[in-house]
Amino acid sequence: MSTVDIDLINPIELSQRLIRCPSVTPHEGGALDELQNVLEELGFRCQRLLFSEEGTPDVDNLYARLGDTRPNFCFAGHSDVVPPGDTDGWGDDPFSGVIIDGKLFGRGSSDMKSAIASFVSAAHRYILKVDEELPGSISLLITGDEEGPAINGTTKVLDWMSKNNEVIDACVVGEPTNPDYLGQMIKIGRRGSLTGWLTVTGVQGHTAYPHLAENPLSKLVKMLEPLAEEQLDQGTEYFPPTTVAISSIDTGNSATNVIPQKVTASFNIRFNDSRTADDIEKWLRAHFDSVGGNYTLETACSSNAFITEPGALSEDLVSAIKDVVGTHPEMSTTGGTSDARFIRKFCPVIEFGVVGKTMHKLNEHVEVKDVELLTDIYTELLDRFFKRVNA
Ligand SMILES: [Zn+2]
Repeated sequence: MSTVDIDLINPIELSQRLIRCPSVTPHEGGALDELQNVLEELGFRCQRLLFSEEGTPDVDNLYARLGDTRPNFCFAGHSDVVPPGDTDGWGDDPFSGVIIDGKLFGRGSSDMKSAIASFVSAAHRYILKVDEELPGSISLLITGDEEGPAINGTTKVLDWMSKNNEVIDACVVGEPTNPDYLGQMIKIGRRGSLTGWLTVTGVQGHTAYPHLAENPLSKLVKMLEPLAEEQLDQGTEYFPPTTVAISSIDTGNSATNVIPQKVTASFNIRFNDSRTADDIEKWLRAHFDSVGGNYTLETACSSNAFITEPGALSEDLVSAIKDVVGTHPEMSTTGGTSDARFIRKFCPVIEFGVVGKTMHKLNEHVEVKDVELLTDIYTELLDRFFKRVNA
């Protein structure tokens, strides 16, 4: 059967069907099955990729491709969702996908099942537009492990793709990037994130005899001084200033007449492209050494800062947005991390989806008209991308 004979994929209906699959990480919940069925009908070749690693649950992923030639334009996203939370706080079943007053409700409606439905619907519309003569390939990389540890998800799919010579030339991730209205913001990069745990050890004693003890808190306060600044720099061309937040200082000491033996502070640094996690750790250790004392520092970096500098791909997207909704989106690097941090090692990657106001909240929803418009934007994006690359 040719794709021409298939009813146009309705992005709203497909969003509803995906929302009705309770795919809370790490459960597939039927969401990838649903997606695979639709994609196969359109002629996509689908690969289900189940990955395991000790200490984490197995996770199912999907890579689908239509066409054999390059350029290969990839839509990336995640079908997993965060738990609904207090279900009594929802107006309806969080997995009902109900539409009320032009709003589609349900866990994953904003983050990011409606964007996945828009990917599929846009691909179908574009295939029909070019009369099934696809000038390259369209692929979907959909993971079931984005909201969880992200170990058995996008990174492993990308490894699998490398091993199987599956090359992608450009990628758009469908995270909900708009703060208030559709067409407000695209993300061209993300800040890095480094978490640190600093433990200072002293000598326990009586608070009436501090000279017989060594208070680790006095040292800790000096060590944390530069981290109390909130901003470590002025920011760079595309990034906001590096920020610090001390999240805990804990001695485990409940007695007011005891100088504790040990104290641990934890902090998180969100940094721009003027520094790397290694630079920050070196800077921290140099400062801690200058204060002196008996300390240990543990760190964990979830990602360094990255950017796809404004260029052809973001211009394609900006002009598609302008055409469909008439706005000129801001190019931003704000917010948390996303799977774009893994994809950027392979090709230019930017992010654009629906409005993220209610993501992870009770009564998560998306405007129905935004899902229609997002589909139009993705369709226009495909058109611009293939025209430009094949010109
Ligand atoms: Zn998301």
